[in-house]
Amino acid sequence: MAAIEMRNIVKEYGDGFKAVNDVSIDIADGEFMILVGPSGCGKSTLLRMIVGLEDITGGDMLIGGNRVNEKAPRDRNLSMVFQNYALYPHLSVFENIAFPLRLKRGIPEEEVRQRVEEAAATLELTEHLQRKPANLSGGQRQRVAMGRAIVRQADAFLFDEPLSNLDAKLRGQMRTEISRMQRRMGTTTVYVTHDQTEAMTLGDRVAVLRKGVLQQVASPRELYEQP
Ligand code: ADP
Ligand code: ADP
Repeated sequence: MAAIEMRNIVKEYGDGFKAVNDVSIDIADGEFMILVGPSGCGKSTLLRMIVGLEDITGGDMLIGGNRVNEKAPRDRNLSMVFQNYALYPHLSVFENIAFPLRLKRGIPEEEVRQRVEEAAATLELTEHLQRKPANLSGGQRQRVAMGRAIVRQADAFLFDEPLSNLDAKLRGQMRTEISRMQRRMGTTTVYVTHDQTEAMTLGDRVAVLRKGVLQQVASPRELYEQP
């Protein structure tokens, strides 16, 4: 059974414009799937429909075999990392990472601490737990945003161009870290980018979109060897 299954997904806006047009993709459990294509091809819209931030016009979205079209984002048990990290400036790194756990309530403080420390260790943030976001580098802030995503032990991680605001050197480092983190955790991941290098180095498979239409789904190797 696919972890995430998109069946003939359509997103149509009021004027009849189809930002996503009849897209079907199966994402296997533990798979790292890239959504790639030029600006405006519909990749963010598709990702937002997986998370539940955007209504689906047509088709079925299945997560773990269950249809989620009408489910609110908080009932989908997915974790999204945005491009602008949206950290809370007045909270420490520890509290920023702990935030999703505090929302759930009823999690014992000891478990919160343990899970935050685990996430921080995975992302090499242990020494920075008491600092405020303003006192971190761009890369560290990005890692805090990721910490917040992984602390929840969601069924899947969703990334919307998480590295596009970073400089080239940091982007390279973060690529390596994301790849390592995902392999270590084995969590199903959907990652939106317009960056060819990210698409070719991070993903198990790459879904190529153009003007809302799915062109192909292939491994980086298959794409590379294509004429
Ligand atoms: P990408 O993430 O690939 O850059 P998007 O998913 O953001 O593309 O957008 C896909 C297309 O849908 C674009 O042409 C965009 O202008 C259009 N679009 C996005 N939101 C709306 C909206 N609220 N109303 C009309 N068109 C929209
Ligand atoms: P991103 O930073 O992901 O590229 P955009 O700048 O494409 O986001 O879109 C920002 C917001 O504007 C989104 O809520 C999107 O739905 C909306 N939007 C994008 N394109 C259009 C459009 N053609 N008409 C109306 N709203 C749009």
